[in-house]
Amino acid sequence: MTGIEQRRIVRTEIPGPLSRERHARRQREVPAGFGITLPIFVERAGGGIVVDVDGNHLVDLGCGIAVTSVGASDPRVVERVREQAGLFTHTCFMVTEYDGFVDVAAALNRLTPGDHEKRTALFSTGAEAVENAVKISRAYTGRPAVVVFDHAYHGRTSLTMAMTAKQMPYKHTFGPFSPEIHRVPTADPFRGPYADAEEAFARFADVLRTQIGVDRVAAVVAEPIAGEGGFVVPALGFLPRVAEFCRENGIVFVADEVQTGLARTGTMFAVEHEGIVPDVVCTAKALGGGLPLSAVTGRAEIMDSVHVGGLGGTYAGNPIACAAALGALETIERDNLAARAAEIGARVLPRLHELAELPAVGDVRGRGAMLALEFVEAGGTTPAPAMAAAVARYCHEHGVLVLTCGTYSNVIRLLPPLVIDFTLLDDAVDVLVEAVHKVAA
Ligand SMILES: *Cc1c(COP(=O)(O)O)cnc(C)c1O
Repeated sequence: MTGIEQRRIVRTEIPGPLSRERHARRQREVPAGFGITLPIFVERAGGGIVVDVDGNHLVDLGCGIAVTSVGASDPRVVERVREQAGLFTHTCFMVTEYDGFVDVAAALNRLTPGDHEKRTALFSTGAEAVENAVKISRAYTGRPAVVVFDHAYHGRTSLTMAMTAKQMPYKHTFGPFSPEIHRVPTADPFRGPYADAEEAFARFADVLRTQIGVDRVAAVVAEPIAGEGGFVVPALGFLPRVAEFCRENGIVFVADEVQTGLARTGTMFAVEHEGIVPDVVCTAKALGGGLPLSAVTGRAEIMDSVHVGGLGGTYAGNPIACAAALGALETIERDNLAARAAEIGARVLPRLHELAELPAVGDVRGRGAMLALEFVEAGGTTPAPAMAAAVARYCHEHGVLVLTCGTYSNVIRLLPPLVIDFTLLDDAVDVLVEAVHKVAA
């Protein structure tokens, strides 16, 4: 992390004058459609700190949306990227081959749940991985339909936008949407309508049997914890029942672990919390250590069902991104970041639970280093998005970078780098706790 002082330092207003100047320029050059959480311009980042152009050191509790789990300048990533960039930047894996691609595939075949024979295909983005998981599932089953859940987020491309639940901002004005995407409720313990795993599963099975046709379903695609949708942790037992139903009915069970995967929730993959062995696992975000890399890992017979030439992409599994991934995976495994994520959860969750006594905090949830606070109108479940925004703003102004999320935009989510220094983490949580007390009062 190239010697960045791991301490929160607020030198100016945030955003400071230099960031504000640059942001004004951005607005003249970049379309307004790109949203912004905090308009500061970054000079350096590493460990648990983001340094902006005004010299402020912000504590990073967002990881560029769950990407930089190993920090934004992990020495193992940086070293391998430097070396690979000097050798060659690109060949296109469909034209000529290189070891990095196969090394990443082998690592994911080894690390993903289940000891069956697997294959891994690499791509660049999470959405691309999900799209390919759907293509592969359709090729394997010869069926058209795809089942997704309430609160789901699977990406912004045409197909994955249809799979994503939330209208604003992801789908608004962008239709028409891809056909044969069917949405079912999840088991949402806080909001329902099916809080209970058995009831939610009964509804799931009923919709597939009576509305879609079980033998028309190629894949059920599920996030083990709904990410953008609000860190909704399904009631225990729901996803194992869904996976079992898929197995009984020849449906490919796809775990979208783009946000939850690779140590984030305290295990290498979030489905491991319930002993689920998915047929196909999608990874991205933390995989590339900050470079764009995604993967679809699945049972060999499923993955190999696609005709030769059916999978690929110009940049799929770019060699520099693969080098970065090998560095990131080395850090995740050698430094046991899954255990570190569990420690982060054990350290932070009790402090969040104290906040749950405030009437404005409707729910506290998450696993490992994927934690959330949901804000509501006092005592009930009516979403309070302005409150989440105010808490985020207070944190930002005090040098703590937090993100919001949720179907109702009323959730503060924490995704700290798994390598974050604990003193720094405690300091950032102090600021968050202070923010919640101020705003909720
Ligand atoms: C971020 C995300 C995606 C999309 O990934 P991109 O790299 O932004 O295309 C898909 N699924 C989940 C669960 C995600 O969190």
